[in-house]
Parts: sequence; C-alpha cells; structure tokens
Amino acid sequence: MLLEGRVALVTGGAAGIGAMTARTFAREGACVVVADVDEARGSALAADLEAGGGRAFFQRLDVTDAEEVDRAVAASLSRFGSLDVLVNNAGIVADARLVKLTPEQWQRVIDVNLKGVFLCGQAAARAMIGGGRGGVILNASSVVGLYGNFGQTNYVATKAGVIGMTRSWARELGRHGIRVNAVAPGFIATEILREMPEKVLAGMRERTPLGRLGEPRDVANAYLYLASDLASFVTGAVLSVDGGLVI
Ligand code: NAD
Repeated sequence: MLLEGRVALVTGGAAGIGAMTARTFAREGACVVVADVDEARGSALAADLEAGGGRAFFQRLDVTDAEEVDRAVAASLSRFGSLDVLVNNAGIVADARLVKLTPEQWQRVIDVNLKGVFLCGQAAARAMIGGGRGGVILNASSVVGLYGNFGQTNYVATKAGVIGMTRSWARELGRHGIRVNAVAPGFIATEILREMPEKVLAGMRERTPLGRLGEPRDVANAYLYLASDLASFVTGAVLSVDGGLVI
C-alpha cells in the first residue's frame, strides 16, 4: 500500500474528485480526514470508509474560515497524531463573461479557490514543519489555469494563482522535506460541470485525444502518485490530467 501510516486531509472531500481521492487514499492505507462544508455527505463517506476497514473521520471545514482551518489541522493531529498530506481540493465556480461578472461572483470564487488554498496550505505547512517528518501538499489547479477559458475570469485567476503558490511553496518548503505539487485536470465528470452546456462538453470530448471526459479516479490516481514516495523527487510540478486536451 502506497500510503501506509500516512495521515491525509482532503478539503472538499465529500464529493467528486475529493471523495474519490479520500477513497483511494484510504484503500492505500492512509488515515483520512474528510473535510468539507457538506456535513451529510462528508460524514456518510467517512462512515463508509470506516465500515470498509479504513481509518477516517469527517471534519466540518469551510476553507475560507481561518479558525475552522486551524481546527481541522488540530483535529488531524489529535485524532491521528500527524498531518502528512494535504489535498487542497475544495473549489467552486461562478461563471460569467467578463462584461457580466459581478464583484460578488469574483470574490466568492477568489475566497474559496485562492484564499482557501492559502489558509489550508499555511496551516498544514506549520503542522508539517512542527512535526519534523516532512510532508506533501497537493493543490487543485486546472487546465484553464494554464490556458484560460471563456466565461471563467474569476475561476481562471484562481487556478493560475494556485500554480504560482505551488511553485513558491515548493521553493520555500523543500528544506523541510515538504513537497508541493499541483494537478491540472481537464474536464472531469463531476457535479461542478452541471452548469456547463452539453454542446461545450461534446466539443471537449471531440478535442481530447483520448476521446472522453475524465473520471474522478483519473485525478485521484494522480494525487496518489504525487502523495506517495514514488514521487519523492517531484516538487513544484503541475501535472496535467486532461486526456491530452491541451497538448
Ligand atoms: P465538486 O463540486 O464535485 O466538489 C467540490 C467539493 O468542495 C464539494 O464537496 C463541496 O461541498 C466542497 N466545497 C465547496 N466549497 C467549500 C468550502 N468553502 N470549504 C470546504 N469545502 C467546500 O467539484 P470537483 O469537480 O470534484 O472539483 C474538485 C476540485 O478540482 C476543484 O478545486 C475544481 O476546481 C478542480 N477541478 C475540477 C475539474 C472538473 O472538471 N471537475 C477540472 C479542473 C479542476
């Protein structure tokens, strides 16, 4: 098992890519903190992981709230004794063309996708440095953070910002044995795409060399690789998981 003895906290762990990541990590031996604003789905998932023989608990976490972030990291330390892997996965969209985008839409997405990643990364880095056994921080970027996208000014700004933070943290934290990497998924079949017109999704499938949308497990497996010792010399990287969409 690739994550035996590790403790991982997955933000936005109740649904989509985060839930699949929590499942994958638990299957590979990690103790998993499922952290999310969605208490019903998050606690159901944690209970399911425990019933399957894994070790997991649900922690209510709004990543925009610094106090809740500190509480979640403290809960990981007190329940499981450490924090070895943070998956900064929580993310939202509020799409509109530039000329229609409201300040409220802008701020909401910045708060969750950028400030949330900062707060969780900072709290986790402090805990990892304090623990003295290194660690791994993984950030959810997106292909659109690399190449832009129609109607996603706010979201793209955050996903490009996440790449900048990933590279900065990789430089700062390497001396503490902490690796920091980002994943840039293409279009993955989860609820986040529910507002995306079918015409756009069909176009994406057509333009993707592998001919399909991604599945949550495609991204979860990338996180698994980056979280594990298989990636022990990989830091500051942005791994595209997009079926070749933006070669
Ligand atoms: P999803 O909507 O299926 O799940 C997101 C989860 O985040 C939900 O459980 C939600 O409750 C939680 N969440 C939302 N706001 C939160 C907050 N403030 N604090 C804590 N949790 C919060 O999304 P997904 O498709 O699984 O996406 C996961 C990540 O991957 C996001 O960062 C997203 O931007 C990124 N991503 C997704 C795709 C895709 O096509 N699905 C592509 C590229 C990147």
